[in-house]
Amino acid sequence: MNFSYLMPVKVIMGKNCIKNNAQVFNTGWKKALIVTGRRSAKINGAEKDVCDALSICGIEWDIFDQVEPNPSIGNVRKGAEAAKKTDADFIIGIGGGSPIDAAKAIAFLSTNDVDDENLFSSSFDIKPLPVIAVPTTAGTGSEVTQYSIITVPAENTKKNLGDISLFPVFAFLDATYMEKLPSDISVNTAVDALSHAIESYLSKRNTTMSSFIALESMTVLGECLHQLITGDNPLFEVREKLLYASMLGGIAISQTGTTVVHAMGYSLTCMSDIDHGKANGLLMCEFIKFVTSENTEKVKNIFKALGVKDIKAFEVLFVQLLGTFKELSEAELKQFTDLAVSAKSIANTVPEPTYDDIYGLLKRSVGK
Ligand code: NAP
Ligand code: FE
Repeated sequence: MNFSYLMPVKVIMGKNCIKNNAQVFNTGWKKALIVTGRRSAKINGAEKDVCDALSICGIEWDIFDQVEPNPSIGNVRKGAEAAKKTDADFIIGIGGGSPIDAAKAIAFLSTNDVDDENLFSSSFDIKPLPVIAVPTTAGTGSEVTQYSIITVPAENTKKNLGDISLFPVFAFLDATYMEKLPSDISVNTAVDALSHAIESYLSKRNTTMSSFIALESMTVLGECLHQLITGDNPLFEVREKLLYASMLGGIAISQTGTTVVHAMGYSLTCMSDIDHGKANGLLMCEFIKFVTSENTEKVKNIFKALGVKDIKAFEVLFVQLLGTFKELSEAELKQFTDLAVSAKSIANTVPEPTYDDIYGLLKRSVGK
């Protein structure tokens, strides 16, 4: 056995975990910038719980509530300006993956002066500000990863600003904030968590530790997915399981990265406006077919963990969750392939796909 494992985030999970652990903020920090999307953090109670905890600790804060879904470089630069202006010494990201990823990029850009061209090849010699994460969707696992996925509009894709210094210091996981999460967002984010677990498990970089964690994530998701198909609001216990499984998926990819699925999915999001989790899910069945011959036992284990009999049942599950999307023209398929083929995560896929393989995967999944 041969591996290294690092996941330095202190995770605190449970109902009222922020209220019950307010002292966690008492580490000498003086001013927070709270980073959120436009609405949800104010409605689901997470922002209030954070502000109450900061008050108890005598810490001041400002709020940057302008994070867009799939935040762009321009969007996080605005947040960094807000952090500098208010003299923040730590950042608290509250929301789905978009505000949490934005919080990490803002933490980096607050201490580093880097132009767009060099942003994704930056050295991290100057430490970013510390980040605290409060997830309010159960999908990205960003609260336990070192990744910040940022949209680069000029290139029609997303890139990863990744470094171990971007792991949050603390993550608070309270499923209460998800009680009114709309059913489409619940499904799409759960499918993102599932993609992380599956891609990590099948990644060339998988280890004994990451595989164990990924399989546990799939098993817990397998217990929940059928309840999401009904469209009924899941019980609190199910929301908690989804949040737990999403965190496990995040830990898994923090060790292994993602694969060709995420690389292809970024184009679907940036150019066809398909939600991140749904984009991955639409590509998943063809991906599994593509990798099966070199991963026969692993694919069996994935089906077993999810409680599906075979690839047919797996396909039915995904259609029930997401429906279908068969829209891309020949020109779009080629453009999306050109973008995906240069992504670093392609090299994590076993077998490593060629240009023609990626084109074929896209065509069979989302071609007209
Ligand atoms: P999101 O873009 O953060 O949020 C989607 C929508 O859900 C927004 O409209 C948001 O509203 C709303 N929302 C969030 N929490 C809610 C709640 N509790 N109740 C009601 N509405 C709520 O979606 P996401 O899927 O969580 O994150 C996607 C992003 O994460 C993508 O950019 C993706 O690339 C990235 N990602 C990162 C990693 C990583 O490791 N760092 C991994 C996978 C994906 P508001 O805007 O008002 O908040
Ligand atoms: Fe993802």
